[in-house]
Amino acid sequence: RAKEDGRNTYRFFEQDMGTAVNDRRELITDLRTAVANGELELYFQPQYTLVDDRVSGFEALVRWNHPTRGMVSPADFIPLAEDTGLIIQLGEWVLKEACRIASNWPDHLRIAVNLSPRQLRGHAFGPVLIDALTQTGLKADRLELEVTESVLLTDSEDVLDSLRQAKSLGVKVSMDDFGTGYSSLSYLRRFPFDKIKIDQSFVRSMAYSDDSISIVKAVIELANNLNMTTTAEGVETKQLLDMLTEIGCTEAQGYYLGRPMPVASTEELIYAGERSLTTAAQ
Ligand code: C2E
Ligand code: MG
Ligand code: MG
Ligand code: MG
Repeated sequence: RAKEDGRNTYRFFEQDMGTAVNDRRELITDLRTAVANGELELYFQPQYTLVDDRVSGFEALVRWNHPTRGMVSPADFIPLAEDTGLIIQLGEWVLKEACRIASNWPDHLRIAVNLSPRQLRGHAFGPVLIDALTQTGLKADRLELEVTESVLLTDSEDVLDSLRQAKSLGVKVSMDDFGTGYSSLSYLRRFPFDKIKIDQSFVRSMAYSDDSISIVKAVIELANNLNMTTTAEGVETKQLLDMLTEIGCTEAQGYYLGRPMPVASTEELIYAGERSLTTAAQ
């Protein structure tokens, strides 16, 4: 049957490829315009400290409200921005906008910003970071930079230099999606991270796998021994939140606690004062 349909399948496949390429080209053009015209928006997802159920900060997550396609996920356009180099301009906008917004929040709240490896190459990142902090007046220790293991995979000294410079300014550096890379453990030796963000896949599987619980416990213990804090990502249920609290995870983030939200909603959450977790989760 596969043989019989071979020709047609191939033809359709070719057409699909053509569409995909055009689609990609169109999306790149649109993204360029969106970045230039400021059509991107930041959403913010709350992070909670588990010992006292308080909001400790927010992670900035970029959104693109495309005129005809609607909301395009960063999972779809960040890779395009990385391939085309647009990530430099986009990333600079994200960093400054995130610092500007957070500078209006109470002082105890931190802001986490995601970085792509390409932003850290060369020697351009340091000045961008210093500008973002001085122009917005945000205190350096309220800013956290999130990098995935892929950042250290490049093995380039510039990247490490950029991260070291950030740390020397007092900015915090977190390892994002911990456990999903090739050699997570060896990266912990290469750079003194302040925080480990435990990937959603480990957190989610704690609900039904004792082995996953053991792994997460071990990561928390390892982080403690290295003077790093831990944030569990992708916490979607009260059961998971309770487990993580019991095993001593520092912070949690996830749909159960709060979805990524536009800036106006973050202010409602911040100024609603001392809310219980159940209220915040609604
Ligand atoms: P990330 O940094 O690991 O961010 C966490 C992602 O998980 C976000 O997806 C968030 O909405 C989602 N998430 C949070 N809690 C839950 C949960 O309980 N359940 C589930 N299923 N998902 C949850 P989002 O916003 O689509 O972002 C995807 C990725 O895109 C981010 O992963 C990050 O790697 C990248 N990204 C987002 N914004 C930026 C940016 O400004 N710059 C760069 N370079 N990358 C960005
Ligand atoms: Mg992140
Ligand atoms: Mg993550
Ligand atoms: Mg991720």
